[in-house]
Amino acid sequence: MKQVEERILSLRKELHEHNYNYYVLDEPTISDYDFDQRLRELASLEKAHPTFYDPNSPTLRVGGSVTKDFPTIVHEFPMYSLDNAYDEEELYDWEKRIFKLLGTDSVTYSCELKYDGASISLIYNNGVLVRAVTRGDGVQGDDVTQNIRTIPTVPLQLRGNYKDRFSIRGEIILPIQGFHDMNKTREENGEEPYRNPRNTASGSLKLQDSALVAARPLQCFLYQMIAARPLFSTQMESLDAARNYGFNVPQNNKHASSISEVIDYITYWNKERTNLPYEIDGVVIKVNDISHQEELGYTSKSPRWAIAYKFKAESIYTTLQSIHFQVGRTGAVTPVANLEPVHLGGSIVKRASLHNADHIEKLDLYINDRVAIEKGGEIIPKITSVDKTKRSPNAVKVKYITHCPDCDTELIRIEGEADHYCPNVDACPTQITARIQHFISRKAMDIDGLGNETIELLYRQRLLHSYADLYTLTYNQLIPLDRLADKSVNNILKAVEDSKEIPFERVLFALGIRYVGQTVAKKLAVHFGSIDAISVATEETLIDVDEIGTRIAQSVVTFFSSLSNQHIIDRLKTYGLQLERDQDLDQSLSNKLSGQRFVISGVFSTYSRNEIQKLIEDHGGKVSSSLSSKTTFLLAGENMGPKKRVKANELNIKILSENDFLIMI
Ligand code: AMP
Ligand code: ZN
Repeated sequence: MKQVEERILSLRKELHEHNYNYYVLDEPTISDYDFDQRLRELASLEKAHPTFYDPNSPTLRVGGSVTKDFPTIVHEFPMYSLDNAYDEEELYDWEKRIFKLLGTDSVTYSCELKYDGASISLIYNNGVLVRAVTRGDGVQGDDVTQNIRTIPTVPLQLRGNYKDRFSIRGEIILPIQGFHDMNKTREENGEEPYRNPRNTASGSLKLQDSALVAARPLQCFLYQMIAARPLFSTQMESLDAARNYGFNVPQNNKHASSISEVIDYITYWNKERTNLPYEIDGVVIKVNDISHQEELGYTSKSPRWAIAYKFKAESIYTTLQSIHFQVGRTGAVTPVANLEPVHLGGSIVKRASLHNADHIEKLDLYINDRVAIEKGGEIIPKITSVDKTKRSPNAVKVKYITHCPDCDTELIRIEGEADHYCPNVDACPTQITARIQHFISRKAMDIDGLGNETIELLYRQRLLHSYADLYTLTYNQLIPLDRLADKSVNNILKAVEDSKEIPFERVLFALGIRYVGQTVAKKLAVHFGSIDAISVATEETLIDVDEIGTRIAQSVVTFFSSLSNQHIIDRLKTYGLQLERDQDLDQSLSNKLSGQRFVISGVFSTYSRNEIQKLIEDHGGKVSSSLSSKTTFLLAGENMGPKKRVKANELNIKILSENDFLIMI
């Protein structure tokens, strides 16, 4: 037995090494035939001795597991997006902000390519891959470990002198050649070709059968190591280390000691990118020094220490055929351009977004115009200009609608806002069904099984007039609908029942109050604690909440002043939905620091900056990034920039040492 175990372990080790040589280094040291022989031997030993099962065995690269639902995982460290720069000036502005925040003017950068795929977070414990999670909404993503294991450039077992526990972020990409090969096979099989490498890569992560993932020529490029405390002193160093651990870190990153060197890098790659075997959509520039990164921290959306320089999008001319006006769940009207289909950036474009009436006016659009379209970061391209020389003399100017395309109510425009609205909130069919669709969506009440068509059907049959009606649906009402079988009806009823356990903040989001997205809903839920408290809040008390402005405040007040909304909420109460915040969720330790605003600077010995920030918040204090008259304390660690100290003194802000702070809490 001992011998078998030893043989299994040694084969695994050897095969991991060959995988690395082949896929990462591109320098195989063994023939394919010999590799296959060893893999077979290992597979048969594992089969005969299942006690030695290891989820990270090289034999499992071929996939075969089936995942029905990918569990949601909250990221230990949020997966932020990146701020964008589109020209050199914006890069210099970014540098200025950094200099100011750091109180220094010597910063160097790590320049990296911005790989265009799907982002992934890999978690390693003691050198072994334990989990792979998609970015999702940045706060939580899907556990796609089984699928990721099949990608040969993802190391299952690290090499060398690795750190015990860390996350590493990267991009799953599909090289262009691999993409074309896949499409060739599909076309031969009479299947619809995939649209572009990025969407195909990202779609691969959620395939249920991991053998299908294994069959796709996916790769994983890594670019960021993350841990509670900094593991390295510079970004460049961490990339080198990651390379030594066996990760696939492309070699084209470069150190730059000024923005002008950054610009050289950008200029080079803007031209050279067409020769790369994979797609990039820009360059990412990161502050190299990790203590600087820590000092700069994050905004709610992105790190302050990194910026993405986006390459100019491709653009092409096509004909504007017509304009379609859509009404959303809040009554907002969005105009969409129907275009003569054209190829752009690897996909076929048929539609473009037009935002609002002002935008259309500014473009001066006529039907049948030749329009230039461009694909930015968004999936739907936009119209950037019109070729007026190609306009026919009797062309008709685009007219914005005055009445709702659905219920024919006259549209209104709120002072200071760009959008038109259908004010018929309580009776406009599209708004009603769209609100219900939003209510049951995954991030809201997560009631599965009711498709858009079923909802429209139920609405037409007068069974569903508001989301409150979901809770009175019965088996006998649902079963006659043609699409629904016995099992689906029971699933729907169960999902409705289960949704009564969905926490308050998500219920609040589900209500579909204009401008109240997930983040705002959470803020309101934490601050007010219950629907009753929110419903009587005034504009003033709402604005008191962090990050809530007049626009959101007014919208909340309007929502709760509507009699029909009040009625719906009363009904939701009787059905037993969570309309109060579960107190157990409040993990705040004390209120000792309530009302105090901190700025954190420098490096600390007992805690990392993130931990310190969390401590302050858990004790009721607030952390901001720059000193102002509102700051109560400057919490100074080691190596704080001298300019900060001067500024704090000028503003009469008390400076605390790490020790002072720990005593304080
Ligand atoms: P965006 O989605 O436009 O906000 O850009 C952020 C995304 O860029 C991240 O989530 C990553 O998936 C991706 N990305 C690609 N290459 C890099 C890189 N070298 N460093 C950081 N992010 C990158
Ligand atoms: Zn309407």
